[in-house]
Amino acid sequence: MPTLFDDLIHTLFPSYCLGCRRAIPPKTTLCLHCLGELPPTNSHLSESNPLIKLLQQLAPISHATALLFFEQQGLVQQLIHQLKYMNREQLGSLFGAQLGQKLIDSPFLSCELVVPIPLHKRRQRQRGYNQVSQFGQQLARQLQIDYVPHNLVRHKATKTLVRLNTHQRAAQIKNAFSVVDSSVFTGKHLLLVDDVVTTGTTLSEAANCLLQIEDLQVSVATIAFAKSPLP
Ligand SMILES: [Zn+2]
Repeated sequence: MPTLFDDLIHTLFPSYCLGCRRAIPPKTTLCLHCLGELPPTNSHLSESNPLIKLLQQLAPISHATALLFFEQQGLVQQLIHQLKYMNREQLGSLFGAQLGQKLIDSPFLSCELVVPIPLHKRRQRQRGYNQVSQFGQQLARQLQIDYVPHNLVRHKATKTLVRLNTHQRAAQIKNAFSVVDSSVFTGKHLLLVDDVVTTGTTLSEAANCLLQIEDLQVSVATIAFAKSPLP
């Protein structure tokens, strides 16, 4: 039971778990209990995992993995919400470091650049940051490759895709992306990163845009994958 003093200290120097609000050592993000509760997909271990099977129906993507399974009302959903809407960017960093460690000795080592799914500039201005930046930067650091955030751009503002079915999502996102300077990506193996995959519409639209560039390969890494995609 935390004392009043503990409460005061944690108000001044907040070091509590973002999953359960237990006190944790400074500069950590989640307690050991919550870390143990995160459900890993371990998709990087299988070349025919459910995520790559989903994405390959939509775009010729080479490899795909997600760090965690996403379930409505679960811990991962709660953490992603904080990452997206409550300025908890450090969660992206934690997830990037965790996935980066797993990808050592995997086919993802042939990736040469990390490219985040961009937000439309208006959305990014409202939020103040792109929620996949820290995840992508940490992954790039672990894989010892460059992070390239501004060459793939989203020039079409889309409404939230959450309540739309696959067909409606595809129509919303169609032609939403473009590349500023294709020579930066020519001949490269890109690692495209995003927060959560549900239907794969956004990632595949971005991948298909990128794959118009000569001699390009696209792989995908995300924080989470929703096990039962929307109809
Ligand atoms: Zn916790």
